[in-house]
Order: sequence, then C-alpha cells, then structure tokens
Amino acid sequence: MSMFAGFEHIVREREPLAPFMWLRLGGHAEYLAEPTNPQELAGLVRRCRENDVSVRILGGGSNIVVRDQGVPGLVIHLGAAAFAQITIADNVISAGAGAKLGHVISTAVREGLAGLEPLVGIPGTVGGALHGNAGTDNHDVGQWTTSAEVMTLSGEIVTHQRDELRFAYRYSNIDELVILRAHFALERDDRAELIKRLQRIWIVKKSKQPPSDENMGRLFKNPIGIRAAELIEQAGLKGAKIGGAEISDHHPNFVVARAGATSDDVVRLIELVRSQVRDRLGVELETDIEIW
Ligand SMILES: Cc1cc2nc3c(=O)[nH]c(=O)nc-3n(C[C@H](O)[C@H](O)[C@H](O)COP(=O)(O)OP(=O)(O)OC[C@H]3O[C@@H](n4cnc5c(N)ncnc54)[C@H](O)[C@@H]3O)c2cc1C
Repeated sequence: MSMFAGFEHIVREREPLAPFMWLRLGGHAEYLAEPTNPQELAGLVRRCRENDVSVRILGGGSNIVVRDQGVPGLVIHLGAAAFAQITIADNVISAGAGAKLGHVISTAVREGLAGLEPLVGIPGTVGGALHGNAGTDNHDVGQWTTSAEVMTLSGEIVTHQRDELRFAYRYSNIDELVILRAHFALERDDRAELIKRLQRIWIVKKSKQPPSDENMGRLFKNPIGIRAAELIEQAGLKGAKIGGAEISDHHPNFVVARAGATSDDVVRLIELVRSQVRDRLGVELETDIEIW
C-alpha cells in the first residue's frame, strides 16, 4: 500500500467490486479508491501515473461486467457527494459525474426544464451516460450537453465546449480519464405538463424494460436498421443459458444473473450469442456492456 501512502483513508486493497455492479457479479479490484473531492482525485491519478498503475473509473456499474479474476490496478468510484452536485442557472442544469442520471432528470423536470425526460429509466450516473452517450431511439444525453469538465491522466482539469464535443449512437469523443461534470442547456416548459410527460414516458418504459430489481445487463449495440433483441430472438436464443447466466425471455438483449451465476457465465453467454447470431444470421453484434 506504500504506493498510496497519504491516501490510506480513501484507498482499499483487494476490494470486491460485485456490490458496485448492476449484475452483482465479479471479482476484486486490486485497489479501489473513493476520493472525497477533486484534489484527492487528482492526487490519486498522478500517483498512478508516477507508478505506472492502470486506472479505471466506475460509475453506477450498469454497463460493466467485471471478470471473476478481478481487475488489476486502481478502480476509482466517484461516489462522494462532491462529485454528485446538481445546480441550475436559468435553463442550464449542471451535474457532477457521480450524480445519478435519474436524479438529474427529475430535478430538471421539477424546475420546468425539458429535454432529458425521454432518458428516464436509464440506470447509472452522468459520467457513465456521457462516456457512452446513453440514450433511446431518438434521444441521447449528448444532444443537450453544452460543455463537459474532464480530468486528464496528469490530473489537470480541462473544459470541453460544445463545438469540441462529438456524440453519436452509443459514442462520445470524450476520451480523457475522468469526466467530472457536464452542463445541459434545456428548454423551458410548463412544469405540470412536463411532470405528466415524464410519468407517461416512465410508464411506457417500465412496460418495455426489465425490472430494476433483477441483476441484469444490457448486452449489445443495435446494428444499423435492426434491434439486437430481434436478432437474438430470430437466432432462437431467448432463454439461452450458461451456468446461472440467462438471456431474458422478455428482453432478449439483456442477460439475467440468476443465483450462483459467475461473470465467466456471462462472458461465455455473450460469446455464444455473438457467434450464433453471426453463424445463423450473418450479423456481427458489438457488445455495449464493457468487460473488465
Ligand atoms: C436495466 C438496464 C437498462 C438500460 N437501458 C439503457 C438505455 O435505455 N440506453 C442506454 O444508452 N443504456 C442503457 N443501459 C446501459 C447503461 O445503463 C448505460 O450505459 C449507463 O449510461 C451507464 O452508466 P454507469 O454510470 O452505470 O456507467 P458504468 O457502467 O459504471 O461505466 C460504463 C463506462 O463508463 C465509464 N465511466 C463511468 N463514469 C465515468 C466518469 N465519471 N468518467 C469517465 N468514464 C466514466 C466507465 O469507465 C465505463 O467505461 C441500461 C442498462 C441496464 C442494466
């Protein structure tokens, strides 16, 4: 632990990552840090650079499978309050990367600010949402993002303005180590109407999306013009199982981790689905979920 001398209060060694994961699976992080402010974060990042230690950033854990053997290097979780602040000035809502996306959406709606509400129901944090430009068929977080503050590998804080940011389907060009904060310029709308709209969207989403109490992961990006779920269904893979990992019957682009499942089961199931869809339908699926 001498490498993290001075950071003992925020760094733990061989820390299980499963409790942070939406799938509730996976091994340990060699080191896990939960900095309480940007200064500590910058110090950790610099320390890792000096010691040639790899760093990964963990948001809500809804788009990651951690392998059973665990993750080398340092995993940084931005769970502290300092990284989750949400503020509003006029029609701009600013949110720390650790804030839950759902919390940002409900705060905006309460303030009569429209735009983000179609994204209700997407689990995870603002940082995770920006990293992969989380969204639905017609809306994504990038379309409302006017600037983003990031931290580089050397611990420097840089702000990217809108004209430097590029977003596409499940892609953003923000490639610095840490996303710290984002600013979303929204549109004024009638608050009561907006609340009703949010409720309507939420009801429809709930009927289409798997229940949030299941240990689930969304697996593949949609290839152009077709849904990954349809391909998985056409390939006859609804309900396919490896060990405790199972392709959901109702939502075939989701894996469910049943009792006793391991990350290895999930990873092998992903490979099975990918190869069978390729062999049977000639389509190469690209994973959306990251394997650490
Ligand atoms: C039930 C369910 C439904 C879902 N529905 C949708 C949907 O409708 N649309 C959609 O787009 N996605 C969906 N997802 C996928 C997932 O919720 C999104 O990708 C989400 O934005 C991930 O956020 P997170 O905070 O959980 O990120 P994590 O899973 O923690 O991390 C994902 C990636 O983002 C990086 N990251 C996280 N925070 C930061 C940061 N501060 N700085 C730099 N990098 C960071 C991580 O390093 C990792 O590379 C769904 C997932 C589930 C389980």
